[in-house]
Amino acid sequence: MPDARRHEVLILGAGMSGLCMAVQLKRAGVDDFVILEKQSGLGGTWWDNRYPGAHVDVPAPAYSFSFASNPKWTRRFASASEIQGYLKDIVERFGLAPHIRLGERITEARFDEGSGRWQVRTEAGETLDARFFVCSTGPLSQPRWPDVPGLESFAGAKLHSARWDESVPLEGRRVGVIGTGSTASQLVAPIARRAASLAVFQRTANWVMPRLDRRYGRVDRWLARLPPYAGLVRWLWVQALEWGRRGFEEGTLARRAMLATAARHLQRQVPDPELRRRLTPPYPLGCKRIIYSNDFYPALRRPNVELVTEAIERITPRGVVAADGREHALDVLVCATGFDTVHLLSSTSVTGQGGRTLREAWSQGPQAYRGVTVAGFPNLFLLLGPNTGTGHTSTLLYLEPQVKHVLACLQAVRRGRHRWMSVRPEVMQAYNEGLQRRLAGSVWTHCRSWYRMEPSGRIVAIFPGFTREYVRSLQRLEPADYEWA
Ligand code: NAP
Repeated sequence: MPDARRHEVLILGAGMSGLCMAVQLKRAGVDDFVILEKQSGLGGTWWDNRYPGAHVDVPAPAYSFSFASNPKWTRRFASASEIQGYLKDIVERFGLAPHIRLGERITEARFDEGSGRWQVRTEAGETLDARFFVCSTGPLSQPRWPDVPGLESFAGAKLHSARWDESVPLEGRRVGVIGTGSTASQLVAPIARRAASLAVFQRTANWVMPRLDRRYGRVDRWLARLPPYAGLVRWLWVQALEWGRRGFEEGTLARRAMLATAARHLQRQVPDPELRRRLTPPYPLGCKRIIYSNDFYPALRRPNVELVTEAIERITPRGVVAADGREHALDVLVCATGFDTVHLLSSTSVTGQGGRTLREAWSQGPQAYRGVTVAGFPNLFLLLGPNTGTGHTSTLLYLEPQVKHVLACLQAVRRGRHRWMSVRPEVMQAYNEGLQRRLAGSVWTHCRSWYRMEPSGRIVAIFPGFTREYVRSLQRLEPADYEWA
């Protein structure tokens, strides 16, 4: 009988990345793997983010795996529940269910230098042992609450967008939303339709572009069953999104087009010049994630909605007090305040060679080699790790090549009869110095965002170049970049 606690590969997280890794392991004939997921359901970010109006902000054909097109999408910008359905189909189609253990939180992972294997402890007290450890928790998994005094004292219902509680009624209630980022821009309109009143607390106005959404009819769905058609549609979207990357550089045609589109959108949807002024972003386009929405601005014009641009001073048991001294009385407070993208994997203590923890290794901010391997942590692989985020396209375009790269690493260790591989510290350091040099003059340095850490301003989440450059960089596994044992 195989030992249920001993595996070739242990994957942390059953979101898009973990499932993608699992599919490719199966395809490569590696069947001895387990996925541990702390939540009670599949989908990672799509399980966490079930707030009203949650949907993907890139076209769904580009948010489908290249190996699994989805003829069931009902619209171009698919909802969170449709994406969940897609992921369930993947689990079924590729026979992943027996590998997935839900509701299992890993508290500790330690590289055992004697055996060259990872010892992983779960919250329930079980110890698992794996040769390869793949962390696929991504940068957007730890909700960040606003650092506002009095938050704990609020007597009404308090929700974070990434921990939505459907049992909290919104109908006829006085609701407040803190934040106006990608998430808030999706949930403001549906909440405004249900609440008696809605106060939207904006600290920074953002760039909003029209969402070119449309329903997929029967013909679309029939055509999407034909692999060449599905492949072509995906390819065209990928090219269009990649072109948008040019918009992050001053003086390009793409940037001029994007600036004009955003200005027209604001002008058309917000006729009141004073409201328009308050909604005009104070930072250059692209510095934060661009929002694609057709209903955010109109929702702010509803009679039951107020945009509050005075800073939040404190939170009281009754509501939110703004800097002008006014108290906004609330029954429900929604914090659409994003994620902690700096302290990655902080709920798990990960210890590598010499007893050094990931927290210690990342004291100046998270970093990795090509976002995947970390010096001193043999056979540990990150998916959607540091500096592999994108502001212009689908994250899957970064994920799939990472998974291929991890597979190449696994195979190199196995074929070479090594116990482990680990990136050389000087290689990782040179790579990150190069990244930071390029990022220093970029558009992302001009504002506060989840791409950067405070107070150093180091950009930890985003890749500076085009997607194709990153993909190319992962295609070759240079043995000299790693130590082998
Ligand atoms: P976010 O972009 O980090 O936005 C957080 C918002 O909360 C910002 O408006 C921020 O204001 C505000 N905020 C934070 N602390 C505050 C405080 N103390 N007082 C007042 N305001 C405060 O987070 P997000 O909207 O959840 O989006 C994060 C990322 O998730 C997105 O960029 C996107 O990549 C991803 N996402 C994707 C989808 C999708 O469809 N695929 C949907 C939603 C989100 P400042 O701007 O002033 O900091």
